[in-house]
Amino acid sequence: MRVGHGYDAHPFAGADRRADRTLVLGGVRFPDERPLVGHSDADVVAHAVIDAMLSAAGLGDIGTQFPDSDERWRGADSIEMLRQVSALLAEDGWQLANADCTVICDRPMIAPHRNQMQERLSSAAGGPVTVCGKRTEGLGTSEGIVAHAVALVIDGRKQ
Ligand SMILES: [Zn+2]
Repeated sequence: MRVGHGYDAHPFAGADRRADRTLVLGGVRFPDERPLVGHSDADVVAHAVIDAMLSAAGLGDIGTQFPDSDERWRGADSIEMLRQVSALLAEDGWQLANADCTVICDRPMIAPHRNQMQERLSSAAGGPVTVCGKRTEGLGTSEGIVAHAVALVIDGRKQ
């Protein structure tokens, strides 16, 4: 088995940064919250999990698998990207044992949406994914949302 770590951050949309989309975290939409800016749907939670899984399997990172320069990923559904990553791992014989993600933000509140995020992420990742929200306690992350994730993968061929 192998472990991988993933990190991601996206800035909030503002006067100088437009986002013609809804905030999406862990595949859950928050239409009343400030959206994040990014090439895909900017789902910072899904991206951290993707990076953790790719790292664990030694398959590079989200930038190598889904390049910013590729128009296919403009506005892409990150849950669908996670599903593709799960398939990539499976091709290489890897199976997700579990992943755990910490989301750092003051808004939105993660706890009320946690189960729904976990369900969406787990079904796409092909293994259990847990999510925990942490507030910044005023330490100045009003500029965007940060997520960290770890993933453990097992060699499915040895099962
Ligand atoms: Zn990202």
